[in-house]
Amino acid sequence: MDDVAIVGGGLSGFSIALLLQSRGISTVLLESHSRLGGCAGFYPRCGFSFDIGATTLVDFHPEGLGGQFLKEVGIDDVRLESLPGYKAWLPDREVEVAREQGLWHAERLVKLGDTPRHRKFWQLLDDIASAYWAATRRGIKLPIRKLDDLVDNFRALDWSGLRLARYLTWSVGDALRHHGLDQDKALVGLLSMMIEDTVHARIESAPLINSALGISIRGAGLSRPTGGMRGLWRKLSRRYVDLGGRIKLRTSVTRIDGSFGDFRLTFAKGSVQASQVVCAVPIGIAQELAPNCAKALDRFVRRDCAAMGGGLVLCLGVPEEEVSESHEGHRHHQLLQDYQSPLGNGNNMFISVSAADDRLSAPAGFRAVMISTHCELSDWWGLSKDDYQRRKADTVELLIRYARRVYPRLATTPVVCELGTPRSYKHYTNRPYGSVGGARLNMTNSNQNAVPYDIGTRGFWLAGDTTWPGLGTVACVLGATHVAKGIEKLTGGWAKRANPQA
Ligand SMILES: Cc1cc2nc3c(=O)[nH]c(=O)nc-3n(C[C@H](O)[C@H](O)[C@H](O)COP(=O)(O)OP(=O)(O)OC[C@H]3O[C@@H](n4cnc5c(N)ncnc54)[C@H](O)[C@@H]3O)c2cc1C
Repeated sequence: MDDVAIVGGGLSGFSIALLLQSRGISTVLLESHSRLGGCAGFYPRCGFSFDIGATTLVDFHPEGLGGQFLKEVGIDDVRLESLPGYKAWLPDREVEVAREQGLWHAERLVKLGDTPRHRKFWQLLDDIASAYWAATRRGIKLPIRKLDDLVDNFRALDWSGLRLARYLTWSVGDALRHHGLDQDKALVGLLSMMIEDTVHARIESAPLINSALGISIRGAGLSRPTGGMRGLWRKLSRRYVDLGGRIKLRTSVTRIDGSFGDFRLTFAKGSVQASQVVCAVPIGIAQELAPNCAKALDRFVRRDCAAMGGGLVLCLGVPEEEVSESHEGHRHHQLLQDYQSPLGNGNNMFISVSAADDRLSAPAGFRAVMISTHCELSDWWGLSKDDYQRRKADTVELLIRYARRVYPRLATTPVVCELGTPRSYKHYTNRPYGSVGGARLNMTNSNQNAVPYDIGTRGFWLAGDTTWPGLGTVACVLGATHVAKGIEKLTGGWAKRANPQA
């Protein structure tokens, strides 16, 4: 029997597995797909490798949460290209969203308005981001469930964090209105894109503190592993196996029974037993797998089902000359087509191009290009085969047309041109209706109202982007750190009872 069984080999589940295994707690990881990665995974095709979700890692520099995680599990050979930021293409202007804070602060005033109101608004966002990034790195955890959490959070927040906690009840819309900037279309347009990508929400309902953190991820540092996500997963999985961890691919868990000290996880070809279990899958799946916890999860699943959204990813393998424009060294771009139309379906899309020397992502003389955008799930279900294919073809054409604003010759002679839709995500990651990115955050489902890691069944843990704090690579690592700590605490107690001499 293993100490811990982990369901789901995405970044959340795998980070927990690595943390525990590196602390001497035996783990087995069960993943339904034939490859690890989930929404931070990759798709090999015709000599290319495409990132099918996350293309960038957030806060993985040595002092960041991701960097500390890699150090803790003993991985020192992930080569990360630190991105200088990226270029945001608004309908009527281009904005350099630079990593270097001095450059970014100057650029936002020049391109988005330099009035006392603008300055005050940005100051508020900067203050919140600075206080809460520091608290995040010091281990803040929500929702507060017991006295210990409260004490830990007080320790993690310094005076400025406590003072700014009053903004927990504000949305970004509230902050814009307060500063008289809610009709400033360029500012609202840029913030909308940044917030949709990080908090998965519309500006009007997006919680201010979470959004300030999301908007500032460029300052926290974006990086891309050499070889993209394929390069990252090689290193992570090699280290885990070296530490004695066991990976079971093509193993779709169908049921979890039992209780602390004796859980049984069943799948088509057998079962495993473990003292504790982590469900690092969306909560809708966790609810189906674990009848004992279904009731406790019910109110969260019901509440969040209407807040789920989808994603589209266009994978292009193209000759190098189709992306040869230099754009001051930027290979990552975010585009908004028009200020009036709703976001999604290309209106807010992200383009990532693999590096020239990245041979894991593309053969010599070629580049892997990933274009992603949000979408509604309902647009992609209930279609006939023909309608589905037609919708895919129309979407490919639209995304390429939009992307040609940045790379005018893009996809003239592509070697690979394939679109992933919510149906693809459903197929490859099993996520309900192919929903990605966790719930769209609002006041009623975030922070103190977020889904906790521990829902009351001893030794049964939740993780992943449908739990606090939500989507993103840094969020996965933060959640993993908290869950691993909780498990370690219980493991100590359990091991002592099982073997009092220990
Ligand atoms: C298009 C897109 C772009 C993104 N871009 C970025 C970015 O640039 N930077 C960033 O930081 N974040 C980004 N994100 C967000 C980030 O990728 C996700 O938040 C993160 O990868 C989620 O990881 P997870 O482990 O929580 O869930 P998942 O990745 O969904 O992992 C869950 C795993 O569980 C497996 N599974 C499901 N059911 C079972 C079962 N019954 N038995 C066994 N296994 C099961 C699935 O196959 C999957 O591998 C992006 C997301 C998308 C969709």
